[in-house]
This record gives sequence, C-alpha cells and structure tokens, in this order.
Amino acid sequence: MESIPASTLTAPVWPIPARLPVRPLPRRAEVVIIGAGITGVSLAHWLTLHDIDSVVLERDHMTAGASGRNAGFVLLGTAQNYAAAVARFGRNFARQIWEFTRDNHVDLRHWLEGRQDCYRQRGSWLIPLDTTEALELQAAEALMREDGFLATWHAKTTVPGSQGGLHVAEDGEVIPTRVVEAFAQPVLERVHEGVSVLSIESSANGVRISTSAGEIEAVAAVLATNGFTPSLLPGAPIIPFRGQMLATEPLPRLSSPEPAYAEHGFRYWRQLEDGRLVIGGFRNLAEPDEMGDELRIHPQIQTAIDAYATELGGSHVVAHRWTGIMAGTPDDLPLVGAVPGRLGIYLCAGYNGHGFGFATRCAHMLADTLAGSGEIPSFLHPERAFAGVS
Ligand SMILES: Cc1cc2nc3c(=O)[nH]c(=O)nc-3n(C[C@H](O)[C@H](O)[C@H](O)COP(=O)(O)OP(=O)(O)OC[C@H]3O[C@@H](n4cnc5c(N)ncnc54)[C@H](O)[C@@H]3O)c2cc1C
Repeated sequence: MESIPASTLTAPVWPIPARLPVRPLPRRAEVVIIGAGITGVSLAHWLTLHDIDSVVLERDHMTAGASGRNAGFVLLGTAQNYAAAVARFGRNFARQIWEFTRDNHVDLRHWLEGRQDCYRQRGSWLIPLDTTEALELQAAEALMREDGFLATWHAKTTVPGSQGGLHVAEDGEVIPTRVVEAFAQPVLERVHEGVSVLSIESSANGVRISTSAGEIEAVAAVLATNGFTPSLLPGAPIIPFRGQMLATEPLPRLSSPEPAYAEHGFRYWRQLEDGRLVIGGFRNLAEPDEMGDELRIHPQIQTAIDAYATELGGSHVVAHRWTGIMAGTPDDLPLVGAVPGRLGIYLCAGYNGHGFGFATRCAHMLADTLAGSGEIPSFLHPERAFAGVS
C-alpha cells in the first residue's frame, strides 16, 4: 500500500460517531449550546444533572471540530511546562491551573472508568531536544514534586536526539471521538446535527438564536465553538490556528508508546494499541501560514511530520492525513462564563490546544453556575480578555 501524499487531506484516524436522526427543532429551550464537541456535549451532560433542559446545535456532525481531529492526550496543565508556567503566572496560580486540569481528568475518568477501548492512564513524556529545555524540565520536575504532582526526570530516553525526558505519571490518553460519544449517550436526543447557527441576539426575554432550521428562544446561549467562535461573536479574543497530523499503518512496538510531547510541544506522538503511530506538530516551521479556521493541509509541515515518523518508527505507510482548528487566547487560558455586555450569552472555549485537559471541567463549572450552584475560578472569566474589545 502506498502512503497518502503530503498534499492530500483525508479523514482523521478516529472512528466517527454514527449520524443522528434528523428531528424537529424545539422553538424554546432553557439553554441552547452551539457546537457538539467535547465542550458542548459535556455541558449538555452536566446540565441534565441539574435537570436543566438544553439543545445542542451542530452545523456538521458530533466531533466534526477539533474534538475529532486531535491527538487524544489528556495532560496536566497548559501547553507550557510547569517551570515556564511558574515563571509566567507565579507559583500559586500555576499550581491552581494544574490542579484544575487534574480535576478535569478526574471528571473524565469517572465517566470512562473501565473503558479500555477509549481511555488509558500510563503517563506522558515531555522530551527536550536541547540543553536549555532539558534544564527547564529538570526544574519543572522539582517544582511539580514539591507541589504534589507525580513527575520523574530520566537522564536518557530512547527518542532520537533527546536530552532526557520528564515522565508525568498522572497523564492519560483517549480515543477522543469515543469520549465525546460517552458523554453524549444520556443526551443524544438533545443534539441536532446539520443545524448552523447564523446569529445570536440578547432580547428582553432571554436570547434569540437564528439557525438554518428556524429560530429558537432560550434563557441562555453558550458558544462551545472553540476556534470558530469569532465568526459568531466578532471581536471575541479567540485566535484560531491549525494543527497538522497524520497516522500510519501499524508499526512494530515503540519502546515508549505513551503520549510524548517534544520541543516545547511542537512535536507530539503516541502509538495506539494496534501499533498505529499518531503524530503531529511542526507548526513552528510555518506559524504565519497556519493561522485561520480553514481545514487546509500544509504540505511542508506534513512532509516534516512524515520524516519525524521515520526517525521514531522507521519506514511506514501513511494511512490518514488531517488538520484541525485550535483556539488561542491572549493569556493562553480558557474563557468560561458570561460574555461581557451580551446578556444571556456565555462562552466556554479557548483551550490553546489542550481541550481534553480543560474542557470537561470548564463545562462542569459553567453548568453549575447556570444552575446557580457554583462559581467559575476568576482566572477563567472572559472579561479579563474582552477588556479593550468592543
Ligand atoms: C491537531 C490538533 C491536535 C490536538 N491535540 C490535543 C491533545 O492531544 N490533547 C488535548 O487536550 N487537546 C488537543 N487539541 C485541542 C482539542 O482538540 C480542542 O481543544 C477541543 O477538542 C475543543 O473542543 P470544543 O468542543 O471546545 O470545540 P470543537 O471540537 O472544535 O467543536 C466546536 C464545534 O462547533 C461547531 N460550530 C462552529 N460554528 C458553528 C455554528 N455557527 N453553528 C453550529 N455549529 C457550529 C463546529 O462544527 C464544531 O463541531 C488538539 C487540537 C488539534 C486541532
């Protein structure tokens, strides 16, 4: 079998959930959620626990966005290592963020316990490719241990060119589309696929949502639209950018098949149970080209990923090439809560490439808040990022 050329876009490697039957759209709902990725679906899920009726509107199909196009790592923290985060945010704040993502993992594990088919916790690796990053990761190990996170520095790894590696034992990995399906199970009849939201307006009685299938009125609307948010909420402080990935046909077992994140996260890979290598990154080769929300293959980046797959796993056949849209924010932290100046409109987005580390917990906290029984940590409040945006 021949490899798929570097310029060809195909479907991601992950199984796509069965399409849902078309059902008439209700005219009213308590909460309308826009987007059926991990955020929208888990939010609907958490809302049912408060007996709040919701409708999820998805223009394409469940998992069509980044939730079906990622690498499936479930990591502690942000895209930076712990030492870099401590330097940037301060020690207490960094610890708070890492603890938040640990709670997110607990939420995920609760729903996926025993699901060997879609969830594993065997840790992950942070792999430095130069001495500066190696020193930073050794500092990260010390800080993480002092703050109660399980991290172990190894002076050597089998990754070619590595300068050691930091193993983070609490990290996990998922088949991302199966996770979304698992959260969706109790709320499937609330999800409407193939319905595009065209606009959202605050009104005297709540919120009016105009869609390709008619209007809906709601008490609240939540944008769970991640990198696509600015097209519905112009001026939202969300910066969409692309990530490129590929998956090979099964390869012989790597000595470390766990999720690995090298060169400050610019290269990432894991080997699935059946031997397929799932690998992505190299956005740093052409960052300006990769801004935007269109699904477009970048042949130069795909070629670089391919070459790195050869370094890691030897000769291989590429079976899938795909791209997905991530959502950046000005301070690299998510935006969760009420949109300033837009009554009844909420946002739950902006995970900076770490949605499976943050989204479920963010949605959980937003559900509690909409039910009047919880508080979202202030570091997630959207107003910090909307300041100055009109
Ligand atoms: C290549 C790549 C690799 C990644 N790897 C990882 C990883 O290993 N670990 C990790 O934690 N995170 C990773 N991420 C990030 C993670 O995938 C995202 O943060 C997460 O999936 C976001 O989920 P979401 O539900 O908020 O958004 P999405 O999954 O993007 O869902 C948004 C949905 O909104 C829908 N929508 C948009 N506009 C409208 C509209 N007007 N009307 C109706 N529907 C609309 C879209 O169709 C889409 O389905 C990666 C992302 C990419 C792209």
